[in-house]
Amino acid sequence: MNAEILCVGTELLLGDIVNTNAAYIAKELAALGINLYHQSVVGDNPQRLKEAVNLALSRCDLLVMTGGLGPTYDDLTKETVANYFGLPMQMHEPSLERIRFFFQKLGREMTPNNEKQAMMPKGAHVLTNNYGTAPGVALDVQGKICILLPGPPREMQPMFREEVIPFLRRYSKEMFVSSTIHIFGMGESNVEQILHDTMLKSENPTLAPYAKDGEVQLRVTARAHTEQEAHAMIAPMIQKVQAVLGEYIYGVDIQNLQNAVVKALQQNHLTLATAESCTGGLVSKRITEIPGASEVFHCGVCSYSNDIKESVLGVKASTLAEFGAVSSQTALEMARGVRALAKADIGVSITGIAGPDGGSEQKPVGLTYVGVSCEKMETVLELRLSRGHKNEREYIRTLASSNALNLVLKAIQKYQESK
Ligand code: ATP
Repeated sequence: MNAEILCVGTELLLGDIVNTNAAYIAKELAALGINLYHQSVVGDNPQRLKEAVNLALSRCDLLVMTGGLGPTYDDLTKETVANYFGLPMQMHEPSLERIRFFFQKLGREMTPNNEKQAMMPKGAHVLTNNYGTAPGVALDVQGKICILLPGPPREMQPMFREEVIPFLRRYSKEMFVSSTIHIFGMGESNVEQILHDTMLKSENPTLAPYAKDGEVQLRVTARAHTEQEAHAMIAPMIQKVQAVLGEYIYGVDIQNLQNAVVKALQQNHLTLATAESCTGGLVSKRITEIPGASEVFHCGVCSYSNDIKESVLGVKASTLAEFGAVSSQTALEMARGVRALAKADIGVSITGIAGPDGGSEQKPVGLTYVGVSCEKMETVLELRLSRGHKNEREYIRTLASSNALNLVLKAIQKYQESK
């Protein structure tokens, strides 16, 4: 089966929004083992939309479209596809009920044009939208499969996972199952070098690296007749990677570092407090993104000024005077201070120079200290996070926060080892 993605929206053409839907769907199709030959974008113009649909359907077996399912006159995706196949549009009552209920819950009046969202091409399989009003559509007509999804990623992504994947599985005797190994503290090229032969030789399961925000993810994908069979093929590959990269792996099939930290704190009945200077609360933001963080997270102090480092965290004036705010000594006292202040098991701290200004020869932009203090260990990492690029303030801050989260994981490991 060969697929094509067609995203509809003038905002995409103007560059006002980035086409993250195409990237998301492309990855999902790859994981399903479906070949993707073309991706395109078209604006909300009826004639050009028709031409784009005609062209796509002339060359693919599976067309996945996003956008243009809304209630307004320029939302024409369903109508254009129905027209292509000569299908009439008809009201889908269960969708109309859902849309009514959605508006009722919001306490808003439903306008008549919202009814348009419940109109479906005859014979369509309706995809439920649990996060918005526009239902999706799956059509299997004249040897072509068309999947029409809403534009907003927060509606489109769950619909793809929950509705489209099960729908597409009907068309394949084999299934693709993936596991992701999360690596922190080693660059992509090093990971590739270490696993070069394994990656080259791997066919089923395959092993492929992805670099993201200073992390590396290794995706292990197996093709099998059942999920159980696929998992049995994946497990030895994970073990093989663990044998060589064990200390850099912070989790398998876990979303990100903050998830790993909250889970590990919960499992070990430990609590955390953070003291952040140059990251201004990014670590506590990332921790509190995770549901259940309140069980394990006591507080985050954003101690930007030296005064607050002294008065709230108890960093000694002599430490600041002798070594400076960006120093290993200050980082350690910040971690100790916030741990004591919050009566938490683990205190973690960050102090650094995120730039673009504020660097010097001895203390250049990117120099960052990440400290941790707990009963089982006290340590400070000195990191040089600048890559010499322009506008890397956010990059430095993200990487600093990731290093702090990873250091918390190392501290938790010490508790586990001492059990
Ligand atoms: P709605 O019911 O909200 O009108 P829709 O299916 O008609 O949804 P659009 O109106 O095309 O979708 O897009 C709605 C919003 O979804 C856009 O403003 C944009 O924020 C987001 N969006 C649309 N297409 C994409 C895309 N390809 N990638 C990322 N975001 C997108």
